[in-house]
Amino acid sequence: MEKIIVVGAGLSGATIARLFAEKGDKVTVVDKRDTIGGNAYDYVDKNGITVQPYGPHIFHTNEKVVFDFLSKYTEWEKYEHRVLANIGGKHVPVPFNLTSLFELYPKEKAEEIKEILVKEVGLDKKVPILTLKQHENPEVRKFAGFVYKNIFYTYTLKQWGFKPEELGEAVMNRVPVYVSYEDRYFTDEYQYMPKDGFTEMIANILRHPNITVKLGTDMKKDIALDDGKIYLYGKEFEGKLIYTGCVDELFNYKYGVLPYRSLKFKFKTKKCASYQDAAVVNYTTSAKFTRISEFTKFTCKPQEKTVIVKEFSKAFKKGRDIPYYPIPLQKNQLHYEKYREEANAYKDLYLLGRLANYKYINMDIAVLNAMKLFDEIVSEG
Ligand SMILES: Cc1cc2nc3c(=O)[nH]c(=O)nc-3n(C[C@H](O)[C@H](O)[C@H](O)COP(=O)(O)OP(=O)(O)OC[C@H]3O[C@@H](n4cnc5c(N)ncnc54)[C@H](O)[C@@H]3O)c2cc1C
Repeated sequence: MEKIIVVGAGLSGATIARLFAEKGDKVTVVDKRDTIGGNAYDYVDKNGITVQPYGPHIFHTNEKVVFDFLSKYTEWEKYEHRVLANIGGKHVPVPFNLTSLFELYPKEKAEEIKEILVKEVGLDKKVPILTLKQHENPEVRKFAGFVYKNIFYTYTLKQWGFKPEELGEAVMNRVPVYVSYEDRYFTDEYQYMPKDGFTEMIANILRHPNITVKLGTDMKKDIALDDGKIYLYGKEFEGKLIYTGCVDELFNYKYGVLPYRSLKFKFKTKKCASYQDAAVVNYTTSAKFTRISEFTKFTCKPQEKTVIVKEFSKAFKKGRDIPYYPIPLQKNQLHYEKYREEANAYKDLYLLGRLANYKYINMDIAVLNAMKLFDEIVSEG
C-alpha cells in the first residue's frame, strides 16, 4: 500500500485521490482553503440560489470517459450555455454567428455578407477571427475587421491585458466565428450542470474510506524539496506527492513569479426573477468589467430573486490576489519549463492541474489529466 498525499482538493486532486483510494492506497488530500472543489466550489445562498464565488463554471465535454466517471458522483441537469455580447447596448449572440450578423447590419447588407461567407468559408463552418482577418477576399477581411473590433479587441484587452495578435491563435481560436445559426456557446456532446452543484459532486468523489481530507491547511510551509528528496514536516517522505498548487510557490519562486491574470467579482442579489436575456452577457466594447453572469439561469429552477456577478480582470500580484488564468505567452511557457525541469529531479513529486502545469484547462480536461497521470504512476509500478 502506497502513501499518497494530494495537495489541492479541486477537481484534479479529487479525481486522482479517488482513483488511488479505489486501488487500495491511503490518500490524504490537503487544501489551504476551508472548502473543497477549488475554483469549481459553489454553495446555496439564503434564497436557495446556487452561487459560484470563483466565477461561473459550466460543464461541457466530448470526453465520454470523463462524463462516465463524473456520472458516478452526480446526477445531471441538461444545460446548454448561451452567451450574448453587449455592443453599444445591443445584445447579439457570441460566438458571432449569422443571427449576430443580421442583428448588427441592415438586412440587405447582411444577406450580401452571408452569401460571401458561405461561398468563401462554407456554411456551418467555424472559423478563427485571426484567419478571417487574413482572408484573401477583401470583403471577408472588411467583415472580419468589424467583428474583431466589436467582439474581440476591447474584450481581449480587458481580459488579458494584451491585444488578440499578441496572444496568438491558441487563445483566439477558443471563440471562433460561426457561419451558421448555431447559438450555443459550446458544441460539445455532453453539456450539463451537476444537479446538486459542483461542491456536492466533488464531495462525493472524495467520500471514500481510504481518503482523508484536511482543509484550512497550507502545505507549502510543510514541504521541503532538497536534492531529489521530499521532506514533509521535517522528515523524509516515502510515498507519492501529487501537487496541484502553484509550481513557482512550491520552489520558493526560485526562477521568479509566474504571471497570471486575476479577477475581482462584484456579486449582487436582485429582487427580480430575471436580470438579463442570457446566463452570461459579455461587454465587448464598453464598461470596465468583462461580463455579467446570472446564476439562476444555469439551472432550471425558477426563483423569485436572482444573483448576478460582474467580473473585472486584472494583473495578478503575489500575496494579494488569487491566480486564475495562466497567461499563454511563449515567454511564460519557457519560464514555466524551468520549474518543470526542476520538478523532474524529484521522482515522487507529480505536478497536476491548472496551477502546477501552468495551463488553462477546463474541468473535463482536469479530470482527464488526473486519470492519465494515475495510469502513468500505476504503470511505473
Ligand atoms: C473564472 C473561471 C471560470 C471557469 N469556467 C469554467 C467553465 O465554465 N467550465 C470549465 O470546464 N472550466 C472552467 N474553468 C476552469 C476550472 O476552474 C478548472 O478546470 C479547474 O478549477 C481545475 O481544477 P484544479 O484542481 O486543477 O485547480 P483548482 O480548482 O484551482 O484547485 C487547486 C486547489 O489547490 C489548493 N492549493 C493550492 N496551493 C495549496 C497549498 N500550498 N496547500 C494546500 N492547498 C493548496 C487551492 O486552494 C485549490 O483549492 C474556469 C476557470 C476560471 C478561473
